[in-house]
Amino acid sequence: MKRFDFDVAVIGGGSGGYAAARTAAGAGLKTVVIEGGRKVGGLCILRGCMPTKALLYAAEVKHLAEHAGTWGVRAGSVSFDFAEVMARKNAQIKDFADFRVQQLNNKRFKFIRANATFLDSHTLRLDRAGLRVSLDTRKRIPATLTARHFIIATGSSVAPWPLPQLDDVGCITSDDAVALKKLPKSLIILGGGAIACEFAQFFARFGVKVTIIQRSEHILKEFDADAGTEIEKVFRREGIQVFTGTKLLNARRKGKLKTVSFEHGGKTVSAAAEEILFALGRAPNTGSLGLGNAGVQTKNGRVITNGKMQTSAPHIYAAGDCTGPHEIVHIAIQQGETAVHNIVKPKLPCKMDYRLLISVVFTEPQVAFVGLTEKEAVTRKIPFLAASYPFNDHGKSLIMEAKDGFVKLLANPKTGEILGGACVGPLGGELIHEIVAAMAKRMTVHELAAMPHYHPTLAEIWTYPAEELAEQI
Ligand SMILES: Cc1cc2nc3c(=O)[nH]c(=O)nc-3n(C[C@H](O)[C@H](O)[C@H](O)COP(=O)(O)OP(=O)(O)OC[C@H]3O[C@@H](n4cnc5c(N)ncnc54)[C@H](O)[C@@H]3O)c2cc1C
Repeated sequence: MKRFDFDVAVIGGGSGGYAAARTAAGAGLKTVVIEGGRKVGGLCILRGCMPTKALLYAAEVKHLAEHAGTWGVRAGSVSFDFAEVMARKNAQIKDFADFRVQQLNNKRFKFIRANATFLDSHTLRLDRAGLRVSLDTRKRIPATLTARHFIIATGSSVAPWPLPQLDDVGCITSDDAVALKKLPKSLIILGGGAIACEFAQFFARFGVKVTIIQRSEHILKEFDADAGTEIEKVFRREGIQVFTGTKLLNARRKGKLKTVSFEHGGKTVSAAAEEILFALGRAPNTGSLGLGNAGVQTKNGRVITNGKMQTSAPHIYAAGDCTGPHEIVHIAIQQGETAVHNIVKPKLPCKMDYRLLISVVFTEPQVAFVGLTEKEAVTRKIPFLAASYPFNDHGKSLIMEAKDGFVKLLANPKTGEILGGACVGPLGGELIHEIVAAMAKRMTVHELAAMPHYHPTLAEIWTYPAEELAEQI
C-alpha cells in the first residue's frame, strides 16, 4: 500500500471544512486542514451570516424603539451612532473568529495556513504568498503534502458582474457592505435574493434611501410568490423602492451619483444613488485549485459531486459553496460530515438528503421555508394540498403588532404527511423549526394539529393550517 502523509486533507477551514476535519479526526483519521484566507474564520463568521445578522438585529432594535409608542412607551427621539453599531458587530465577529481559530488549532488534527493547489491526484502544493503568518509557523510548513483522501471545501466569492460598466463606475459587494465606515445617503441594490433583501432592510432602517432592482417577477424568487409579494409590500411601506421584472442595461456616473438604467414595464428606467451594492450571486472558489491535475470535474466552476459528495476522482470529495447546490451553512456542514462518513465507511454509504432543506431570510418579517415549496411541488408534479393562515388574525402576533405575513403547510393529499412549511412572519426563522422537527419524524397534519401548543404563543399558529388540512384529508 502506498504511504501518504495524511489519511484526509481538507482544503478550506470554513463551515464545511471544519465540520469535515472534526468528523474525520473524531473517526481516528490522520487529518490536516489547509486554510488560505488572509483571515481565519470562513465566510459565515467573517463576512456572511454572523455580521449581517448582527447588523440586522441592530436595525430591528432601532425600528422597535422608533415604534415604542404603539405600546404606550415613550422612547423619545431615537438616534444612532453608526461607528458604535459597527464596533459592536466587529467585537462579536472577533469573538466568533477567535473561537474558530481555537477550534482549528486543535490537537486532534493539523492546521496549516497556506493556499493549496493539486499537483497530481494525491499531492498538494502549499503556497503562503500573500498570507500574513508568523515566521515560526512559516518554518514548519512543507512545500507539498500527500493524502489518501481529500475534501475540497474552498467556498465561494462574489460572482463577476454582468455589467462591465460597473468596473468603471465602481460598486460595493456584501464583503464591503459589512465593513462600511460610513453610510451612503442612497443605495441601489442589484439583485433581490436573501442577501440583497437583508441589506436592503438594514440600510433602509438606518436612513439610507434604497432602490432594489431585481430581474425576476418577485424578490426572493426561490420562495413561493406569496412570500416575495409580502416582503415587497413591507419594503415599500418602509420606503424602499422595489423594481421587479427588469433587465439591466447600463451603469454610469452622473456627477457625484452612480446611475443604473434598466428595462421595466416596456420602458427604459433609470435610478441614481450615491452607491451601488452588487448582490447578484456568488461563484465557487475553484479556479486556482489545479483540479484538472487531480481529475476533478467542474460545471460552471462548481465541483461536480454525487450524493455521497464524491467527485469524479473517487478519493476526492467536496462540501459547501464550492459544490452547491445550496449556499447555506448547515448544508455545508452536513456535506462535510457526509463526505467523511463515506471515506470511513465505503461499504455503508450515505447520501445527502435535501428533503428537509431549510432556508431563512432575516428580514422583518422573517421568511423561512422547509421542504417543498408550492412552486417546486408543481414543477416536480408532486400532488399536494396547501393551507395558510395570516398573522393579522392571531392572538400573539396582534399583541406584538406583528401583523405581516402568514404560515403555510403543504401535505400529501392521501396520507396527510407534511411535505413542506413556510413562515413569513415574526421570528419565522425560529418558528419554522417546529415543522422541521415534524417533517424529520414524518408527522401528518393530523398529528401536528393534535399536538399541544401553549397559548398565547406565535407557534400555535401552525395548528390552524394543520387543522384545515386534516379536515380536508
Ligand atoms: C452576506 C452573506 C450572508 C449569509 N447569510 C447566511 C445565513 O444567514 N445563513 C446561512 O446558512 N448561510 C448564509 N450565508 C452563506 C454561508 O455563509 C455559506 O454558505 C457558508 O459560509 C459556506 O461555507 P463553506 O465552508 O463552503 O465556505 P467558506 O466558509 O467560505 O470556507 C472556505 C474557506 O476555504 C478557504 N480557501 C479557498 N481556497 C483555498 C485554497 N486554495 N487553499 C486553502 N484554503 C482555501 C477560504 O479562505 C475559506 O476560509 C451568507 C453568505 C453571505 C455572503
